[in-house]
Amino acid sequence: MKIETKVLHSGYKPENGGPGTIPIVQSTTYRFDSCDHVAALFDKPTEFMYSRFANPTCDAVEKKIADLEGGVGCMLTSSGQAASLLSVLNLCCAGDSFIASSSIYGGTINLFGFTLKKLGIECIWVDVDASYEEICKAIKPNTKCIFGETIANPALTVFDFDVWAKAAHDNNLPLIVDNTFATPYLCRPFEWGADIVVHSTTKYMDGHAVQGGGCIVDSGNFDWEKAYKATGKFADMVEPDESYHGLRYVGDFGKAAYIVKARTQLMRDFGCYPAAQSAFYLNMGIETLPVRMQRYCENARKVAEFFKSSDKIAKVIYPGLPGDKYYERAQKYLPNGTCGVISISIKGGRAAAVRFMDALKLACDEVHVADIRTCVLHPASATHRQLTDEQLVAAGIDGGMVRFSCGLENVEDIIEDIKLGLAAI
Ligand SMILES: *Cc1c(COP(=O)(O)O)cnc(C)c1O
Repeated sequence: MKIETKVLHSGYKPENGGPGTIPIVQSTTYRFDSCDHVAALFDKPTEFMYSRFANPTCDAVEKKIADLEGGVGCMLTSSGQAASLLSVLNLCCAGDSFIASSSIYGGTINLFGFTLKKLGIECIWVDVDASYEEICKAIKPNTKCIFGETIANPALTVFDFDVWAKAAHDNNLPLIVDNTFATPYLCRPFEWGADIVVHSTTKYMDGHAVQGGGCIVDSGNFDWEKAYKATGKFADMVEPDESYHGLRYVGDFGKAAYIVKARTQLMRDFGCYPAAQSAFYLNMGIETLPVRMQRYCENARKVAEFFKSSDKIAKVIYPGLPGDKYYERAQKYLPNGTCGVISISIKGGRAAAVRFMDALKLACDEVHVADIRTCVLHPASATHRQLTDEQLVAAGIDGGMVRFSCGLENVEDIIEDIKLGLAAI
């Protein structure tokens, strides 16, 4: 099936006379009639037993997302942050390192650079445009994985999958990719060599700004046993898990080893799982993902062109626009569009940007992105507020920069609104 069909039909098959939409199973527990049955589940978790491990509503949505990305399994989490955290902790422990592209979401930069450091895990930053040799050179004997972002929030760089996947695999390392901005409608990282995908489903996947969430998807493609034999890494993927009655992830679950371990070890211990109700909302968002993504891309393309034509705008960053630094790379990996987010830099710096934003009537100033409604954010006074003007420049952000997230309104109304903003400068 094509993705437009999968978003509606994967993951849940109504029984004869059963409910047509995924039922919300608002229950923490599942009842069994014998001790032996429960004991067997503790030896090998194959059925629902407690909703921290798995819940039928979440399970249906997980199966759908796994199908959309082309993976063997998926685990929903309570937020995108939780997904990024667990995706790395499933491979790294104190004393290990991993590599991350320097162009990733700011929240992930804090998590990797500060919080994981406190846990004894080192993040080695490598430029998003690094060559194969540069990436390989950064890898240390204790490096366990590589992390990148398909279209980075907010820098809008495009990840060069071919280079990063080859560097990862030539060194027996799995590649994890945050696919939040692209969604599986615009890019399926497994088709380009990624091994694990994470999402903040809070953004386009849910799409309606009604609840936060995240997920980890396993391609099933990484050969843990081979990497273990070659390097001694990933022993806990292959050797018996003493915290789980000697469960063997590769031995007992084959291609789904990574995602089963994430659930049985990490979700068991950290407990950052979503409510069934949240999974239900997420599913409703996903059902319209293809039509929404098409419209986001169409609107953003027209809005980017409009910005480009204005003499009040110093710079327009949109990888779907010819002439953008990442246009060619986007054409290769994201031929159907590059999401609805545009970065612009307004001539006149901070003061002009604030006047532009405050004059907008339709686009709302909010700490969100990829909303169904057009929204804007001024990084210099919000997410990057603590930085001086010099530090902002070093971070690739200037006082005049505005992150413009196109919604699904009629594009003519969005452009009329932008005209109001520009007139106020
Ligand atoms: C928002 C975001 C996250 C974090 O997701 P939350 O759901 O807010 O925790 C991670 N990655 C990217 C690319 C994001 O945009």
